[in-house]
Amino acid sequence: MITGSKHKPESIVKMKFIHSGKIISEETKKRMSEAQKRIGNKPPIRINNEHHSWKDDMACYGSKHTWIYRRFGQANKCENREEQILNFKCRNKTNTFEWCNISGNYIRERSDWLKLCRSCHRLMDMTEEKMNKALKALKKAQQTLHEGQFKKGQIPWNVKYITFNNKTQSITTWAKKLGINHTALLWRLKNWELERALTTPNRYA
Ligand SMILES: [Zn+2]
Repeated sequence: MITGSKHKPESIVKMKFIHSGKIISEETKKRMSEAQKRIGNKPPIRINNEHHSWKDDMACYGSKHTWIYRRFGQANKCENREEQILNFKCRNKTNTFEWCNISGNYIRERSDWLKLCRSCHRLMDMTEEKMNKALKALKKAQQTLHEGQFKKGQIPWNVKYITFNNKTQSITTWAKKLGINHTALLWRLKNWELERALTTPNRYA
């Protein structure tokens, strides 16, 4: 018995590539497959719950979307555009299409999924509860700036209302009354004193 004999590096490379690129005929393939079956080997099953790492409901959002994509391909149309299924019309805004889950439970069935354009998808996912939450957050972020708090050149980004002479109005309304546009008033607030910015009318009017 020979022990400890080693292949030369060249031989290893040769062995690696000796079978590569060989064209195997269909007949041989069949015989190879039959031989494997005789031994008792089975092709690996990689579908749904037969797969060893199938997580079912525990799977994350991303893998559930990958599942639908693998099974039914990429979304390439808006089903609401062709035929109005949802309770609103497709706005024909984009040609970016996505898979949309209907029930929110991500059931692995085609009937629980829709091909939608991005616009329809966002509208469908936007429930009243979510909308109210977003509006609340926005209102909270929009501050009112009172006369005493004003510092020239320092307007926080979230200021929406300005109080001046006991009047609270939005920046847009102030601008309209002066006959200038919103951007012009913002420029004034940055560069002028508050009183001058809110009392000087449009000089070109
Ligand atoms: Zn649409």
